[in-house]
Amino acid sequence: MTGIAERLAALRAEIEGEVRACGRAAGSVRILGVSKRQPASAIVEAVGAGLDAIGENYVQEALEKFVGLPPVEKHFIGHFQTNKAKALVQAFDVVQSVDRPEAATALGNAAARAGRELRVLIQLNISPSERFGCPPAEAEALAEVIRALPALRLDGVMAIGPITEDRGEIEAAFALAAKTFARVGGSTLSIGMSGDWREAVRAGSTMVRIGTALFGERRYD
Ligand SMILES: *Cc1c(COP(=O)(O)O)cnc(C)c1O
Repeated sequence: MTGIAERLAALRAEIEGEVRACGRAAGSVRILGVSKRQPASAIVEAVGAGLDAIGENYVQEALEKFVGLPPVEKHFIGHFQTNKAKALVQAFDVVQSVDRPEAATALGNAAARAGRELRVLIQLNISPSERFGCPPAEAEALAEVIRALPALRLDGVMAIGPITEDRGEIEAAFALAAKTFARVGGSTLSIGMSGDWREAVRAGSTMVRIGTALFGERRYD
């Protein structure tokens, strides 16, 4: 008994409480269960408890765990090199981490060759502690590149908040993400993780990416 189902239920209730407290529509924030460095059995348990979308950061790890999983929407949320584009198109429903034109073009070409449409988000860099992501000032130019690729469908933005205890700094970073989301367009603002989802929901997040608060500590071995 790992308690994943209980944690998912509690998290849903807490998130809905925050959604209501800030006057937003019930059910307007979706939970993405971030299962990197967690066993496939944990994903199976969460899906059994009603989780309908998972996020993974590493292509090889994900491919190994996806074998035999029950149906669940799969999001890629990690940094990737262009040579991973084909594997991403084959294994994932959504790629949230498109942060530069070359990455968009590689995915767009791979999706076209596979004869499918791939949903993507632009990953923004809104934090000095983050190495990757598109500078917000360049997001509209990247959005144009993506929209010119017929096999990609741009659905919004993703960002990782700053690693800090300063709640004001987190709020400012999420406000910047929300403002950039409004310019880029789409239906998904993917901000908020285990430690900062409340600030994210208040800033307008439509998808929180929750790892440790749902699955527990990650295993590194
Ligand atoms: C690991 C990770 C998460 C989940 O982080 P937690 O703090 O464990 O909730 C969310 N988003 C991205 C991009 C991640 O890499």
